[in-house]
Amino acid sequence: MSKKNQSITGAYSFFNCIEKNFDKAARFLSIEKGLLEQIKACNAVYRMHFPVKIGGKIKVIEAYRVQHSHHKLPCKGGIRYSIKVNQDEVMTLAALMTYKCAIVDVPFGGAKGGIKIDPQTMSTENIEKITRRYTSELIKKNFIGPGIDVPAPDYGTGEREMSWIFDTFLSIRPGEVDALACVTGKPISQGGVRGRKEATGLGVFYGIRELCYMKEEMLSVGLDVGLVGKKIIIQGLGNVGYHAANFFHESGAIIVALAEREGAIYNKKGLDVSKVILHLKDTGSILNFPEAKNIENTENALELECDILIPAALENVIHKNNANRIKAKIIGEAANGPITPDADDILEKKGIIIVPDIYLNAGGVTVSYFEWLKNLSHVRYGRMEKRFSENMNAELLQVIENVCKTKISTEEKKIILRGAREIDLVRSGLEDTMISGFHKIRDLKKSYRIENIRTAAFVLAINKIVDSYERLGIFP
Ligand code: GLU
Repeated sequence: MSKKNQSITGAYSFFNCIEKNFDKAARFLSIEKGLLEQIKACNAVYRMHFPVKIGGKIKVIEAYRVQHSHHKLPCKGGIRYSIKVNQDEVMTLAALMTYKCAIVDVPFGGAKGGIKIDPQTMSTENIEKITRRYTSELIKKNFIGPGIDVPAPDYGTGEREMSWIFDTFLSIRPGEVDALACVTGKPISQGGVRGRKEATGLGVFYGIRELCYMKEEMLSVGLDVGLVGKKIIIQGLGNVGYHAANFFHESGAIIVALAEREGAIYNKKGLDVSKVILHLKDTGSILNFPEAKNIENTENALELECDILIPAALENVIHKNNANRIKAKIIGEAANGPITPDADDILEKKGIIIVPDIYLNAGGVTVSYFEWLKNLSHVRYGRMEKRFSENMNAELLQVIENVCKTKISTEEKKIILRGAREIDLVRSGLEDTMISGFHKIRDLKKSYRIENIRTAAFVLAINKIVDSYERLGIFP
């Protein structure tokens, strides 16, 4: 763990922080200690070093794949490319994946991968070389496969890396009929599913929207019901933060600040997210956006006046040294582990509602699950039923028109007749998952009389995992 991280999280490693949250929840349950220990432990940690020739010189690359839980298979979780990657971080992120999948009823064990590189300073050729070599190391040790362990994008990776992983897998395992399902987050042309890219951001939006519909919760923090007019700060404009910002903006919420590595921008009347993105593309930075004030120190953006704060970048950004200065009434953890346990306690005392990562950012893995199912079934969503439902709707409409002796306008007809496309099915599956997940946690919070949503979410996850261990007959 780096010195800075240690001063932020105190004596604890990142993994200890998650264990602390787990232990808090376990106190509400009477589960055998050994079983709890088994659930918490990382089942397999694969740490590798491999050589890659960069600029004519051999460079040793450090990389990881951690499988936290095998209670369901395959294991599932993204691969992170960052110079800060370390074993503790990958283990923690893998553990979070286990709990996340359990909460949203996605039948996978948790995993995570990481390569310690800074992709922003590397050529595409070198990133490709490293990705392909990493994949063959995973294949060698049986750490990847449609029924074994299925990677996905995470911080620093995207569709491009996923298609290299798939291609490497297929070239080493030719003829494997389900090879497409060895990785998710692929481009549509390579077996990806429509709606995967924006899934985590959209899931964050659905989760926060559902909370904002709850009168009781809104009353507790002195806010009106609904999202319209709510002031939002988003930290991190990567794949998650960018899409979340767009969905919030479209829904009538006001994005008052956006924060990136180089600094933040603020306008209390609201920022037009698409204009900020254009400015970012033109200038390479969000700073100096004409309709906003610059905030040089990006960390200060977290402390601005707002209703909802969405940390959507990396872990431990809200810690014991800044938690007291947070003014938001709601914090939505779009990133994994953005709040340290010390900060969690401080924020809870301040009455801030925290919507935890293990629920809120589960949209990504939920749609990865849909992609995996699509790959295993070898058929696009909607292919079998779209035309059929359109024909049925047309017949039904004809009957209604005959009975009522009125004609429906062509515009109205278009809306009524339309059969579901892949994107419609993926989005409605995601929306349903996020809404039902929210209510499961909320109901459980009430019935167990638990103070905060995070602990309730952990209780839900632990109960689910224990159930599947029992079904396996491992702990009779
Ligand atoms: N990296 C994402 C996460 O942290 C997605 C994982 C996946 O789709 O498997 O949830």
